[in-house]
Amino acid sequence: MDLQLTDKVALVTGGSKGIGLGIVRELIANGAKVANVNRSTEEGKQLEREYDAEGKECFFIQGDLTDLDACQNAIEQTIARFGKIDILINNAGVNDGASLEDGPEAFQLSLQRNLIHYYALVHYALEELKKSQGTIINIGSKVCITGQGGTSGYAASKGAINGLTREWAVDLAPHNIRVNTVLPAETWTPLYEKCLAEMPDPAQAKAEIEQLIPLGQRFTTIEEIAAMTVFLASPRSSHTTGQIIFVDGGYSHLDRKCTFPSEVKDFGSAGT
Ligand code: NAP
Repeated sequence: MDLQLTDKVALVTGGSKGIGLGIVRELIANGAKVANVNRSTEEGKQLEREYDAEGKECFFIQGDLTDLDACQNAIEQTIARFGKIDILINNAGVNDGASLEDGPEAFQLSLQRNLIHYYALVHYALEELKKSQGTIINIGSKVCITGQGGTSGYAASKGAINGLTREWAVDLAPHNIRVNTVLPAETWTPLYEKCLAEMPDPAQAKAEIEQLIPLGQRFTTIEEIAAMTVFLASPRSSHTTGQIIFVDGGYSHLDRKCTFPSEVKDFGSAGT
């Protein structure tokens, strides 16, 4: 399927690593030009050089998105470089464990890391998105519907992102701007690998998590999140808006019985 993305301009936050990197690669493979905003410089510059050598564009913008000026600057630099924005992908975020015990300041900081910049970038990009009849994709998390414990700030941010997806879809429908959210659950990224590496037995921890994922007992790949995200960002999903789409191998919704050991799974199969 031709996704009709040739020469579309996409701004991706956190595109140097993990899920964001998967999205950047899929966008460019489909002919789009990318502006990629990250805090750290090295990977972003390296990515820019890699694509430059192939005659493709992955323009790196340095900035910490907890700073509103950096959000505004990201939009301005994208316009200065490419002259338009067709696609805004809000992806950067971190499950920072700002808990009930940590208090209001930690909670507020978590909202800055995970929520405020999603709003700020849409706000600063609004006039450009209206001109291009663009599209917005937010990357959420299953935590907002399942809870996780010990992470109030992240859960609140991701819950708000679901709310804003519907709110913005209504707000922006008159401008033919579509707004959708993709929700990962357990996606294998360098960050995830690093977290598991801190556990006493990382391989065992990984195997235990995999066991809980109904489809294939494996983590979702960044390519699988990217494929859905880029399809939603493309004109081929031209009548899809306000949707919250789980790409998670059934982790968030399917009957937990399907991940039980087989002897338990077979028990009472005619039950509720
Ligand atoms: P990751 O591997 O840590 O990558 C995140 C990227 O975002 C990094 O390049 C990071 O840049 C950048 N970033 C983070 N905060 C930033 C900030 N304040 N300003 C600028 N750049 C920032 O994370 P990931 O696992 O791919 O997660 C991406 C998104 O998916 C997040 O919204 C996360 O909540 C969501 N998600 C992930 C999973 C999962 O299983 N991986 C599950 C559910 C939801 P630097 O580190 O270079 O600064």
